[in-house]
Amino acid sequence: MHTAYITHSDCLRHEMIEHHPECPQRLRAIEDQLSASGLMDFLRYYEAPNADVHQLERAHGKDYVEGIFNNSPLDGLQHMDPDTWMNPYTLEAALRSAGAGIFATDLVISGEMKRAFCNVRPPGHHAEKNTAMGFCFFNNIAVAALHAIEHHKLERVAIVDFDVHHGNGTEDILSHNPHTLFCSTYQHPFYPGYAGKSMEKLMVNVPLPAGTGSPEFRFAVQDKWLKAIKDFEPELIFVSAGFDAHRDDDMGGFNLSDDDYIWVTRKLCAVADEYCQGRMVSMLEGGYNLDILGRCATAHVRVMMNL
Ligand SMILES: [Zn+2]
Repeated sequence: MHTAYITHSDCLRHEMIEHHPECPQRLRAIEDQLSASGLMDFLRYYEAPNADVHQLERAHGKDYVEGIFNNSPLDGLQHMDPDTWMNPYTLEAALRSAGAGIFATDLVISGEMKRAFCNVRPPGHHAEKNTAMGFCFFNNIAVAALHAIEHHKLERVAIVDFDVHHGNGTEDILSHNPHTLFCSTYQHPFYPGYAGKSMEKLMVNVPLPAGTGSPEFRFAVQDKWLKAIKDFEPELIFVSAGFDAHRDDDMGGFNLSDDDYIWVTRKLCAVADEYCQGRMVSMLEGGYNLDILGRCATAHVRVMMNL
């Protein structure tokens, strides 16, 4: 047993407007599939702790973090951007989500676990240093990566993001950090409207047009991500795992299949095995077709478990 499964019931209580695609049922869809597949028996289950303010401020401005705490409503919804609201439980959920990544990082760096999957929400990759947007409040993956660098003193961590949307928040927070490599494939032009390739050497942005399918995605991963990761020789690999690039997810215009998620996870596990003793922390981002989300996240975790 070398793969951790980290979640918290607080993450189910954050709920936005009715029929919002980023809904609590997403976590249940994944957990149900993990249980039905029998994998849950072979995962080590942990409850996510809360992230603390100091850990959040490694990625976010002090005033921004304070603003999120102050905006937490006693009842009703607090509007943050056209798609992003806080209910009275959102702050707790956001602290657990960021805390999950920190805890996962501690587990894999200590050697207690080799890999970890964080089944948490709200997601994080659109949250910029000082902006909540796109269903995200704290940038969970950037908070975790900066914990690895600043607390555990790692020199090189790689973050890959296969969500159909660009991880603009992760780029915003980490773009000038010499200790982080960020590789992202995403639909372009599309939300959140990022213009394209970055000039930063450690920002491997791969914008791809609507309609992108398996061959184009796999070529981009092979040709851009894997080369960059091997050159970088990371000590830990983080995955922003969004499953909305699937052909049956209406939120995006890519045509990936279940097999593409299995394939990309295998490739990432292989480079993790080669460069960083297999250490990998994967965190849930998007994925809004509940059946597809449950199935593809389970397939992703199965590969992480070497099963
Ligand atoms: Zn997405």
